[in-house]
Amino acid sequence: MSRRKIFRKEQLRFMVLNLIAFTIIFAIFGVIIFSGVQNTLFSKTDEELLGFKDKILNGNPFRETRPHPPGEEFERDDAFKERTRPNPRIIVLHWNKNGEIVNQNEIGTLLYENYLQDFTLDVKNVDTITNFTINDQYHFRYLLFENHNATDDIAYTQLLMNIDAEQTIINNFGKLIMLCSFIFIILSISASFILSKKMMQPIIAAWNKQSEFVENASHELRTPLTVIQNKLELLLRTPQEKIADKFESIALSLSETRRLSKLTSDLLTLARADSAETQLVTKSFQVDDFVQGVCEPYMEIAESQDKHLWLSLNCKTNIKADKERLHQLLVILLDNALKYTNAQDSIGVKTYIEDQKIVFEVTDTGIGIKEENIKAIFERFYREDKARSRETGGVGLGLSIAQWIVEKHNGTITAIKNQQKGTTFKVKLPK
Ligand code: ADP
Repeated sequence: MSRRKIFRKEQLRFMVLNLIAFTIIFAIFGVIIFSGVQNTLFSKTDEELLGFKDKILNGNPFRETRPHPPGEEFERDDAFKERTRPNPRIIVLHWNKNGEIVNQNEIGTLLYENYLQDFTLDVKNVDTITNFTINDQYHFRYLLFENHNATDDIAYTQLLMNIDAEQTIINNFGKLIMLCSFIFIILSISASFILSKKMMQPIIAAWNKQSEFVENASHELRTPLTVIQNKLELLLRTPQEKIADKFESIALSLSETRRLSKLTSDLLTLARADSAETQLVTKSFQVDDFVQGVCEPYMEIAESQDKHLWLSLNCKTNIKADKERLHQLLVILLDNALKYTNAQDSIGVKTYIEDQKIVFEVTDTGIGIKEENIKAIFERFYREDKARSRETGGVGLGLSIAQWIVEKHNGTITAIKNQQKGTTFKVKLPK
């Protein structure tokens, strides 16, 4: 499958997942709001029905039977009536044991004949508030209960309350929710598309970076391998010749083998860095003593190349860091300083404290880096001058590793152009 197809498939997958997530969230939200509105609207009706049932079962709902102290009669009567007066929206039906309505006269002929004549007693929902519709038009909420308080003739009492107004509000609200859902689905399709595109961007970037890395790595590996293979084939074709005569081929093969070994170890370091496999082993040590120790062998190398390596160490404090990794960092910077300087040039290593941080500086008077390339030098496999870098054994991974080490220590690394000539690498690390 081509790379584009894979990306498109992944984007579609992200989009569908986003859409499902949005829809579920909105559906839950809609259900909560809808049932909240429904409950609020019906809670008053239910309160009325239950209160009225209570009054029926606990005495005459229309008349007070309790005695009250003289003098308070007027006030108490009024307040009591207020509380006990039945809601005019409630229709009371009394049923006998045979399932017939016994209080037709109280209900009124008009209501009875038009709506309740064919109404049957359904004892399934006793003591449960239930909705029902008459003639597919009028909505009621009712409460049916056994009425032992009443005369022998009455077995059940049913309280009905018209809820057309509430039902209209609920229906309209339901329609509004449906409309919102439709608009929301259209919006979430667009949002999911944009989000999935945004989510894919870092994946595509990482993928491209990875393939570029693999491509560069194989290219870098192929060159020394081809050189070694050619030289060995040449040696095989002339087995009778002495080693001394083939010295050049052997030396070249050996140098390419060293190059291969360095390249594979650099690649391994970066691969481990990418997979966050490598953990720092930190300990506290004195900065200047450490830098002195790392630089000593380089002084001899510099001298042998007719270069001058000087030290200016002004950091007597301790640093808590991974000693091995810091050693690797300084070696990369010193190696580069030696690689990119000519005879008579000088290389300096400085340590000092700045803004409560420890600074290591490796400065040289070498060939320098063009201003426009300064940022690129930390990229993997980047080399300003491929021919020179190859001659000196460079593959363009040193500074990437240096940057990784510094970042792992929560520090910063910058390259600065020297005033007259050359480059300075400044590493700032927390103590
Ligand atoms: P290399 O193995 O090629 O040295 P690095 O990642 O260490 O790879 O460096 C990347 C590039 O940065 C080098 O190819 C070189 O062009 C440039 N560079 C690094 N250090 C210096 C320096 N001290 N002076 C000039 N150029 C440098």
